[in-house]
Amino acid sequence: MRRVVFPEAKKAVMTECEPPKCGDGQVLLKMRRVGVCGTDIQVFSGRNRFMTFPIVPFHEGIGTAVEVGKDVTDVKVGDTICVRPIIACHNCYPCRHGHVNACENFNSLGVQSNGLGSEYFAIDAEYCPRVSPDLPLDEAILIEPFAVGVHAARRGQVEGKKVLVVGAGTIGNFVAQAAQLLGAEKVAVCDLSEEKVEMARKAGIALPIVSAGKTLREVAAEAFGPEPADVIIDCVGAKPLFQQILDAAAKTSTVVIVGNYSENVELNVAQIQRNELNFLGNITYTRDDFETAIRLFEERKVYVEDFISARFSIEQIQEGMDQAVAGKAHNMKTIFDY
Ligand SMILES: [Zn+2]
Ligand SMILES: [Zn+2]
Repeated sequence: MRRVVFPEAKKAVMTECEPPKCGDGQVLLKMRRVGVCGTDIQVFSGRNRFMTFPIVPFHEGIGTAVEVGKDVTDVKVGDTICVRPIIACHNCYPCRHGHVNACENFNSLGVQSNGLGSEYFAIDAEYCPRVSPDLPLDEAILIEPFAVGVHAARRGQVEGKKVLVVGAGTIGNFVAQAAQLLGAEKVAVCDLSEEKVEMARKAGIALPIVSAGKTLREVAAEAFGPEPADVIIDCVGAKPLFQQILDAAAKTSTVVIVGNYSENVELNVAQIQRNELNFLGNITYTRDDFETAIRLFEERKVYVEDFISARFSIEQIQEGMDQAVAGKAHNMKTIFDY
């Protein structure tokens, strides 16, 4: 079978190897689509702190179950599966308290272990939620990043709140959509890129704002007038923005950090203390968030039209990754098709 490998930074090659065996309790998937996430771009560029080369990339994937192992009851051959790609140990303290997304042995496919960039992939059935066969594959491939949005909106307890989402890429857009679907009072989303803000407008986000030339404090004032944002959700993860987020946060605001910071940031801790700010980390999603994401997709509540900004065959892996990196500021989602 064909399998993508990143042997070193900025290199992607197609290799041949034996397909995996379907073990007891496992499902053998024939992969149909994989999506490129910000994390994959970090991995490809050699800027991810949690992985080592060589690696088989990708954690966003849709496959068809082609074989099910002994004791698998929830999945049948032919089912469409949207892989839930965070493998938890179920033993550590966070896992035992229901926070499998914060597992001490956190293992994300395509980062800490080999990912879905493989023609066939065998995985435990618990990570194989089914999606309706009526849902187009090009929509289903967006469920995983949307689940991140569901988790972030829940972390921020957005119901009835004024929410400012910083960054309008795929994750920012999905966080904003999830916040609206989960009952936020007003949602603003900002980005330097006009294309991304336009996409947020098309997705029905109430207050899409181009932030070029403005501070986040000014953006928040433009969105909500004299009233502050109750919740700010950082979907960028860029060092120079962090102080601006702190400055835009009103007293007692909540800040949810979704973006992946690849550098440390120096903080004015007194500003956090005196303003009674709530800082919340955020990593991936729980099983429940993922199920909610699937349900919202099946109910066609999520706007995904034109989200796929580039499509390549898996054979074009080098070209596709190079373009995903080059177009990072403007692209939404790049996918590879098997
Ligand atoms: Zn992702
Ligand atoms: Zn664990």
